[in-house]
Amino acid sequence: MTRPRFDRILLKLSGEALMGPGQFGIDPDTVANMAAEVKAAKEQGLEICLVIGGGNIFRGMAGAAKGMDRAQADYMGMLATVMNALAVQNALEQMGVETRVQSAIKMDQVCEPVIRRRAERHLAKGRVVIFAAGVGSPYFTTDTGAALRAAEMKCDALFKGTSVDGVYDSDPKINPKASRYDVIGFDRVLADDLKVMDASAVALCRDNNIPIVVFNIREPGNLAKVLAGSGTATVVMNEE
Ligand code: UDP
Repeated sequence: MTRPRFDRILLKLSGEALMGPGQFGIDPDTVANMAAEVKAAKEQGLEICLVIGGGNIFRGMAGAAKGMDRAQADYMGMLATVMNALAVQNALEQMGVETRVQSAIKMDQVCEPVIRRRAERHLAKGRVVIFAAGVGSPYFTTDTGAALRAAEMKCDALFKGTSVDGVYDSDPKINPKASRYDVIGFDRVLADDLKVMDASAVALCRDNNIPIVVFNIREPGNLAKVLAGSGTATVVMNEE
């Protein structure tokens, strides 16, 4: 399979990617490892937009399950994504990579608001743009936020870093005979309810023809390998 060449990508990391060996929160060593992956990818000459989840700190659904008002809990989840964005910004800048954080919930003292044209300018100057607070509304996820920003910023692909090396026909952590797809269509992912990203994010990528590249972010050096076409990944795309 020949992978398309990418000039600009959106990388989505779940909050759990920052958690390290713990069950909760932000592990500075793990954040530094993630930042090193981003730096290596950037050194290939790419423009990079980043979206980071908040599940390592707070998920709205979990709060709602314990009796909280869902929208209130979702706002807390969005604030968690801002904390993660600041942690990754700090790690990237300590490695000499310039960044800007843009939040969908205005927080003037902390970061910029989302302004597409300004984000374009940052990318042109070689900065990594980290989009925080998802779409800025409850009842959404950072997966959908990632798909939205990928469309808005005209990214060539959405890279979804996970703890498995692609999309399988069943859960490889449960079924040892599960087999991995190299390429799979959006409609198949939705019809078979394969766990790639949530359905609204997958549909947004399908409608805007943005391939989703699912790969293992926990393997050091893997993002750069996948970008170079040599790593293991699944590409979700519109079938011809
Ligand atoms: N969230 C939200 N709207 C958004 C993005 C996120 O309400 O546009 C809230 C939601 O409560 C979610 C939490 O923020 O559970 C953390 O995001 P997510 O669960 O997507 O993080 P991840 O699973 O990627 O770590």
